[in-house]
Amino acid sequence: MNGHLRHTAHPATVDDEQGLLVLPDVPDDAPEVLREGIARRRITATTGRCRCGAVLVMPNRAQRRQAARRGGTFTTVRVEHEDGCPATNDVLEPALRAWKATR
Ligand SMILES: [Zn+2]
Repeated sequence: MNGHLRHTAHPATVDDEQGLLVLPDVPDDAPEVLREGIARRRITATTGRCRCGAVLVMPNRAQRRQAARRGGTFTTVRVEHEDGCPATNDVLEPALRAWKATR
């Protein structure tokens, strides 16, 4: 889904290492559920917690070293959102597809 949305990078610090958080922008003209889902993902990424109670798990040093060995500079974070949270792929992806179909 990331290909459909504009993303912006935000400086972030993880364990005193400088990095960038790449986050989707909330489209002004998107339906409410889509805006809410994207907003929740941004909130989760920047505050570490979603309104549904999901907690952001940042990669630890070992995982980041492993990613670096594989040649990647990106590490992914995992968030297990509650069923029905607008930030889940189950909600966000169909909403995004439906919205794109109208444009
Ligand atoms: Zn959530």
